[in-house]
Amino acid sequence: MSSQLTPRTDGPTDDRALVEVERVSHSFDDLDVLGDVTFSIETGSVACIVGPNGSGKTTLLRLVAGLLDPDDGSVSVAGGPGRRVGYLAQQPAFRGQFTVRETVEFYGALVEPSPDVDAVLDRVGLTAVADRRVDALSGGMRRLLGIAQTMVGEPSVFALDEPSSGLDPAMGRHIRAVIDDLAGGGGAVVLSTHDLRAVERVADTVLLLDHGELVAAGTPEELLAQADAERLEAAIEALGPDAGAASVASGLRGGGR
Ligand code: ADP
Repeated sequence: MSSQLTPRTDGPTDDRALVEVERVSHSFDDLDVLGDVTFSIETGSVACIVGPNGSGKTTLLRLVAGLLDPDDGSVSVAGGPGRRVGYLAQQPAFRGQFTVRETVEFYGALVEPSPDVDAVLDRVGLTAVADRRVDALSGGMRRLLGIAQTMVGEPSVFALDEPSSGLDPAMGRHIRAVIDDLAGGGGAVVLSTHDLRAVERVADTVLLLDHGELVAAGTPEELLAQADAERLEAAIEALGPDAGAASVASGLRGGGR
């Protein structure tokens, strides 16, 4: 199966690609992690990268965020001269003694013009705990603070590494609403997750990675149709990891963990 799939999104987009990933490959020393990955993400859409541990999701997000350069191929992100991609790491490191507001101010001091910190906190729903120390935040609030940090500098693209994993249902719903909000107003979100129920709810496009190859890409409905499945979990099982002998035969060696 080719890994050069161009997802078609039927979601609320205006057909303008904000992110173009073209034939990207990446290795760490002699470990091939991504091979020949091609996709685009349109304005207003949410793309979810799914795949087993070690399949290259974080590496792909870091490439989109410009934190890594591809060995081959290209990553381009449309936008103005300012910060283009806001990146949420899986375990963002914050200073525990800072308050929520001080943390966003700290990141805000690094960009011009400085952000309206209150507006950022309001947008993610952290206004009520603005003066709470980071040490005292719940896991979900900490995740929201991470998302607030990505908004500093008003990037158009948000690359979020597992933004909703391990949260209770109410916080999960809240984070999904924030993600929808980020993709609105001319932005786009690309995130990684193992939470397929979240994918069903937020994804305009699903990108399925297996050993560093993009083995399926499309809207959730397209993946269901392609796999002749009723639930995304079953579709991903059918299309994904090690499902197709062809994808394994043409795939990368040793990309997994
Ligand atoms: P995922 O997010 O899907 O779990 P990753 O992108 O984190 O996958 O990792 C893909 C592969 O690359 C794994 O085998 C991982 O051990 C390896 N890897 C990730 N980052 C590095 C690094 N900085 N140096 C060496 N190997 C790495």
